Amino acid sequence: MITGATTVAGVVGSPVRHSLSPLIHNAWLAAAGVDGVYVPFSPPPHGFKDFVRGLRGGAVRGVNVTLPFKEEAMMAADEISPRADLAGASNLLIFTAEGHILADNTDGLGLLHAFQVQAPGFDPKAGPVVILGAGGAARGAAAAFVAAGAPEVRIVNRTYMRAEQIAGGLGSTVVPLPLDRMAEALGGVIAVINATSAGLSGDGDLNVPLEATPTDAVVMDMVYKPLRTPFLARAEAIGRRTVDGLEMLIGQAIPSFEAFFGRSPPAEVDVRALCLEALSQ
Ligand code: NAP
Repeated sequence: MITGATTVAGVVGSPVRHSLSPLIHNAWLAAAGVDGVYVPFSPPPHGFKDFVRGLRGGAVRGVNVTLPFKEEAMMAADEISPRADLAGASNLLIFTAEGHILADNTDGLGLLHAFQVQAPGFDPKAGPVVILGAGGAARGAAAAFVAAGAPEVRIVNRTYMRAEQIAGGLGSTVVPLPLDRMAEALGGVIAVINATSAGLSGDGDLNVPLEATPTDAVVMDMVYKPLRTPFLARAEAIGRRTVDGLEMLIGQAIPSFEAFFGRSPPAEVDVRALCLEALSQ
């Protein structure tokens, strides 16, 4: 029930119809009995700045930000958290009552949460990781692994220059490699993370020679529609442990919920099951 005291939060993207975030946050709100609501917003492609300006002042407590606005969200903010700064993008804006806009990034926390849940015992400090892709998601992942103490983060991308740009912004722990050095990049890694958009809708595979990874390496795909991407299916077929993008989405939602509603989400709700049901429709 919406009351005069309801706290409003939401997700902003274009398109936003497919977003599972309203399902996740509203299930948590209902179970916790919090007087809050989480709604989708979809401003026109060039309307993000005006949209954010309209929310300044705290009418809405905050918004998660998804494609294509994650970089623009940084520019709209008055204050940027160190982890959003490192990631070069923001998936969370908080509007204070004083009229300030704070940009944060919880995608990196979500990524590490997914490893904790689905690859128990995984230690990011234990060896090099390789990230495929050099967009915003890849940069955020690289920043998260650097912050978590990874000794080396290798970035392999189709457009090598973009991999170099990420490395340039994150220091010497991050090493860019061109696609034709993929096999070398996979040698000795503890994890391979697909942060490209290849594999979306189940089409395409990156043809990464996963056999070149150590047998105990963990393979992760940020894409969660389909949940079991061709990339993850191949990893499973050769016996590698896998981590999926849905657990990352849930993992980024936890600190977002805390920022919006001032409490942890209730543990008793199985939001993964709810999302799986929605994805199957
Ligand atoms: P982006 O900025 O558009 O970057 C896309 C990347 O994919 C680029 O590096 C691009 O390479 C590469 N790429 C696209 N198609 C390719 C292909 N056929 N072969 C090889 N490389 C290809 O996107 P993003 O924001 O970083 O997001 C990447 C993915 O992560 C998306 O699928 C997004 O939905 C997902 N994601 C998931 C979560 C989650 O919570 N699970 C969170 C954030 C993002 P070039 O540079 O050569 O073009």
